[in-house]
Amino acid sequence: MSKAVFPGSFDPPTLGHLNIIERASSLFTEIDVVVAVNPEKKYLFTPEERVEMLRELTKIYSNVKIHTWNSLIVDYAKKNGADVLLRGIRNATDFAYEFDLSLINHSLNNKVDTIFIPCEQKYVTIKSSSIKELARFGGDISQMVPELVAREVQKKFKI
Ligand code: ADP
Repeated sequence: MSKAVFPGSFDPPTLGHLNIIERASSLFTEIDVVVAVNPEKKYLFTPEERVEMLRELTKIYSNVKIHTWNSLIVDYAKKNGADVLLRGIRNATDFAYEFDLSLINHSLNNKVDTIFIPCEQKYVTIKSSSIKELARFGGDISQMVPELVAREVQKKFKI
């Protein structure tokens, strides 16, 4: 049992993300969900909005905390005493990308290992970018995100 970091954009948080957090919360002593803040990237939600939604959605798990970070995730792990990076895997495309990333992260800090958690089948097609695309054109996202997130997304697109 160790401390794990679950990094991502969470723009917005989805049922897929929450499923990984829920399952990880019983595997690790502590989980830091780390919201990426990258000035080069365009997000729908501000870091504060993403943190606020995640805090509300994960308040039932006493060992899950939400933070932001704007640099290398291995540096976050080192600074905060975490030895595991958690990643959710939806399919072979995710795996190919995440496997390479895990090698890079391990070469940057060999005290940190990446652990992959396979997605549950019903969440395989859930992706933050697709959710934004769907919502932009008035598509139904209610099966992909918690109600709270659906409301916030709809506000952004003034649906
Ligand atoms: P997205 O790919 O949805 O834009 P993020 O950067 O927010 O994702 O992803 C953070 C982490 O959550 C990554 O490890 C990603 O693989 C994982 N993840 C994203 N969507 C899902 C899902 N539907 N099921 C399981 N894991 C997921």
